[in-house]
Amino acid sequence: MAYDAAAMELFFNPRSVVIVGASRKTGPGSFNILENLLAYGYRGRVYAVNPRASDILGVKCYPRAQDLPEAPDLAVVTVPRELLPEVVRDCCTRGVRLFIFVPQGLGEADEVGAAIQSEVLETLRRHGARAVGPNTLGTINALDGFMSSFMGLTRNADPFPCGLICQTGLFLATDLGQTTSLGKGIDVGNQADIGFPDALRHLAEDPRVKVIAMHMEGLRPGEGRLFLEVAREAVARKPVLVYKTARSATGAEAAGSHTGSLAGSHEVYVAAFEEAGIIQLKDVDDLDDTIKAFVFLPPMRGRRVAILSISGGGGIMAADACDDHGLRLAEFSPETRARLQEMFPSWMTVSNPLDVWPAAIGKEYDPVFATCLDIVAADPNVDALVCIGGSMGGGVDIGDFVVEGARRWGKPVTWWLYGKRAAAIAAEVESSRCVPVYPSADRAVRALGHLATYYLDVLGRRKEAPVRPVGLPRVERGPGLPDAAAGTNGPGLRARRATVRAMGAEAFDLLRSYGIPVARWAVASSPQAAAAAAASLGLPVVVKAVGGNVLHKSELGAVKLGLATPEAVLEAAEDVLRRVAGEGSEVRLLVQEFLPGGQEVILGAKHDPHFGPTVLFGLGGIFTEVLRDVAIGLAPLTTDRAHGLMAKTKGYAVLAGARSRGRSDLEALADTLVRLSWLVADHPEIVELDLNPVKVFAAGQGCVAVDARVLVRSDA
Ligand code: ADP
Ligand code: MG
Repeated sequence: MAYDAAAMELFFNPRSVVIVGASRKTGPGSFNILENLLAYGYRGRVYAVNPRASDILGVKCYPRAQDLPEAPDLAVVTVPRELLPEVVRDCCTRGVRLFIFVPQGLGEADEVGAAIQSEVLETLRRHGARAVGPNTLGTINALDGFMSSFMGLTRNADPFPCGLICQTGLFLATDLGQTTSLGKGIDVGNQADIGFPDALRHLAEDPRVKVIAMHMEGLRPGEGRLFLEVAREAVARKPVLVYKTARSATGAEAAGSHTGSLAGSHEVYVAAFEEAGIIQLKDVDDLDDTIKAFVFLPPMRGRRVAILSISGGGGIMAADACDDHGLRLAEFSPETRARLQEMFPSWMTVSNPLDVWPAAIGKEYDPVFATCLDIVAADPNVDALVCIGGSMGGGVDIGDFVVEGARRWGKPVTWWLYGKRAAAIAAEVESSRCVPVYPSADRAVRALGHLATYYLDVLGRRKEAPVRPVGLPRVERGPGLPDAAAGTNGPGLRARRATVRAMGAEAFDLLRSYGIPVARWAVASSPQAAAAAAASLGLPVVVKAVGGNVLHKSELGAVKLGLATPEAVLEAAEDVLRRVAGEGSEVRLLVQEFLPGGQEVILGAKHDPHFGPTVLFGLGGIFTEVLRDVAIGLAPLTTDRAHGLMAKTKGYAVLAGARSRGRSDLEALADTLVRLSWLVADHPEIVELDLNPVKVFAAGQGCVAVDARVLVRSDA
């Protein structure tokens, strides 16, 4: 359904609410939503529906929703699942248009639950009503003072300007981690109606939300492109972070090709997030760390980091972390070095990381550290600072200086504080909301790395739409992007039965029609015809089997290379036919020009159930099969993206001309990838496709596909 800004606003900030199924039990352990809502300080009008109570906590109860004196903006429904359809009908009749469905045991559970969920959705559609959940804690809005959680929560008077979309009650019930808090949060639960795209757009459009975090198990099938569209708009306004879980669950799919097994659901999510500019996080620590960094710190203008440490060893740890997280060590200017050097003993040459201790010998540590900080922070070669301290007491608590300085410098500063009292000192420092404190060098640096990704890579990126190369076949129905409307977990998708078959030699015609270079070929039904075909193609040739059930030709001994005479062709063709005798009556001989040399790469494509057409690139052989060294991108691609994709693989160095190898024709490969990306975008019936291998030759000499495996679906 279309985005409804007013509805989203009311899910977080209703003027009136009814709790349907409000419990009479109150006090600790009763998980009473009504009680929690009142305790949270909600100021709107509150009603309760409970046929067995006259009032709960001073709130008048009505036996049924029809009896309510007004139609409240929002109904929070917490009844056993069997009662849900009737309750929703009652509410809709009374004019309620927004729901939060708390119960579990619906679409996520058994068939009965799924049927109830469908019935409820049907009622919603009929009335133009919308819902969050089921299987949800609903929403929490500390900014305006509303919450629907059955876990009690005290309203945070000064919450982080952070919005969260999650698929667990955990983050809402805890108001995030130990050192972070929520401005607005929504648990989308089963996403029966409201899902990530709507929630993300709402948070993107609320100017009080400065950073958006997501905990995502998965999008609804078919919703990937809509989500990306919303995400692109969101990241242009504020950082969007994601902690994606359920990796193995979504990755375990049956695959009929290399691309199928390498481009699992999780890998496609990763590619899609990256393309949209969403920052990807490793775990909940990363989530908390990064939220804090974006809330506290000013934008990062470059990648050059200065490290000031109470110990030389700590500085080296942070320097290593810079390497890991895409940051560089700043090169101090000559003035900075000269000013610092005056403070240090002559046996020490100052450099970055800076071990401050030698300057403080025989002096007080804090003011020395503060002076060093001021000097370094003023250096125009420094974009961000990492301070390292120990909470050992004895006058080395530099927190005040760091905070005071950070306010003046306008550069991001993170602090790694180690030791027993670190948490207590960190809490005090972080109350300033300008310096985040982390428990390790790696985390202090990683947070800056995410800042650099957002402010430099994502915001600095050129935004170019893919351009359809000239001369491509015209498509009637438009590119094969997944249909967002059809993509819900409704019955429509499942009802269609699909059969998948492999294309034979006609795959080469399809490739050629998109301008993808293919080894010249002919199809023959007999060894004699193969010899004739070889003569017209020109010797030497390759003979292999095509069609039928033939899968891995080399394994069957059904690929004969470098056949230089008519006799050799005859003999090879006879042998190939013998070897594939059991593979079906449709097997034919494929005669190809023989293309020796070159570097073998794999180009693949696949239709992902969430994000639609994708392409894959990797070096052939062990690079892809053993090392899984591949890169995945969403189709269609721009030429830039095609180059970027190739460059992401480790094997790229081989193509780019490592160790006196010549440079391969990367331009031809990029062009082929772009064309392949349009082919798969135009043809939603292509389930998976492998060009394995494509042979790429020296710069200027082009590339050629010599093998193609194309799996197409015909919907019955
Ligand atoms: P399969 O992958 O089914 O075993 P291929 O058609 O990919 O069969 O052939 C196996 C290998 O033979 C390729 O990886 C490539 O090294 C080589 N080869 C195949 N066709 C040609 C050709 N036309 N010119 C040169 N080498 C080829
Ligand atoms: Mg092959």
